[in-house]
Amino acid sequence: MIESKVSYHPDQRGYYGNFGGAFIPEMLYANVEHLRKCYLEISHSTSFQEEFNSLLKDYVGRPSPLYHAKNLSKKYGATIYLKREDLNHTGAHKINNTIGQILLAQRIGKKRIIAETGAGQHGVATATVCALMGIECIVYMGEIDIERQAPNVARMKMLGAQVRPATSGSKTLKDATNEAIRDWINHAEDTHYIIGSAIGPHPYPDMVTRFQSIISEEIKSQLKEKTGSELPDYVVACVGGGSNAAGAFYHFLEDESVKLVLAEAAGKGIDSGHSAATSILGSEGIIHGCKTLLMQTEDGQIVEPYSLSAGLDYPGIGPLHAHLIKSGRATVYAATDDEAMHSVLEISKMEGIIPALESAHALSVLSQMNLREEDTVVMCLSGRGDKDLDTFVNYLEKKENG
Ligand SMILES: *Cc1c(COP(=O)(O)O)cnc(C)c1O
Repeated sequence: MIESKVSYHPDQRGYYGNFGGAFIPEMLYANVEHLRKCYLEISHSTSFQEEFNSLLKDYVGRPSPLYHAKNLSKKYGATIYLKREDLNHTGAHKINNTIGQILLAQRIGKKRIIAETGAGQHGVATATVCALMGIECIVYMGEIDIERQAPNVARMKMLGAQVRPATSGSKTLKDATNEAIRDWINHAEDTHYIIGSAIGPHPYPDMVTRFQSIISEEIKSQLKEKTGSELPDYVVACVGGGSNAAGAFYHFLEDESVKLVLAEAAGKGIDSGHSAATSILGSEGIIHGCKTLLMQTEDGQIVEPYSLSAGLDYPGIGPLHAHLIKSGRATVYAATDDEAMHSVLEISKMEGIIPALESAHALSVLSQMNLREEDTVVMCLSGRGDKDLDTFVNYLEKKENG
């Protein structure tokens, strides 16, 4: 029997192997189907590409540098490069996707944007592009998250967005998502829903991945310029829903010599009952409109995830990643809150870069990888740490007080 090559791209129905698809309410079918039919043609068109690339360059500040972190390299005994998504406008990779989606929304005649947000990072990235384009923006956010993430709520309001509280259930991200979907059903004609990670019903995971794939496109050419080869031995990225990892992996998916590594949040420990190690603890199920790996009870109730890092605190993982893991193409390691905090301090002190707590998880897994002296590692530094300063200060105070 001839083994057919594994594909890392979705089929017609949006499946990556066993994962993906589009599980949506009847009333959204026409909307999602229209998006599916036109997203590739529009995003490949010359006018879209020109506007997208021009905004990435002059508004976001791309290309983001690929930085040879000499001190970390010495410590970990391999050549380590940091892909500096932390230097993007708004402080993380999320803006790459929201720019792509707002340009798409304009071209399909949508007049109104909705989004859901947990920590507020995706809400801010969405409010930013809506301000830029002069489009109405409504962001759903759990009531508890609105209290916890006051600075991001203030940013969204300054940018002209309306922040609507989700007051049902646990009053957090999944309730905000339910509210956003309810809104979408009621305004399907004129509204585009900007999903913030490589999740959701097909075509969202593929669409978001392609908008983020600028990350690996740049890594390839930057690495070639620096080392003479465009292929590293490893690409490492943290994973919440999976958009920065998907973008950092995309142009390496078919280069099987490049090992792909995902860093999940183990929270207080994988088996502590307070974790977000989704792929390790998860099983197949349906969440946010796609079939993937998620943390659930035996009767299919979603288990509330936990991580000190708000951006990794998600109960599912994008279907591309579920497929990469199950097919053996990607390897997953997990880092606890404490390990990630240790890495935050290490990158800060050794390289003079204060990373987002999410991004620090990617550094934490290097010591689990058995690196060799000759290995070249590209680590996606997905965002900067300004937003996490309170978390850092509280953590350090607790440490000092024992
Ligand atoms: C949101 C966020 C993440 C997690 O989201 P992905 O879709 O998994 O990339 C990681 N890092 C930062 C800085 C974030 O803001």
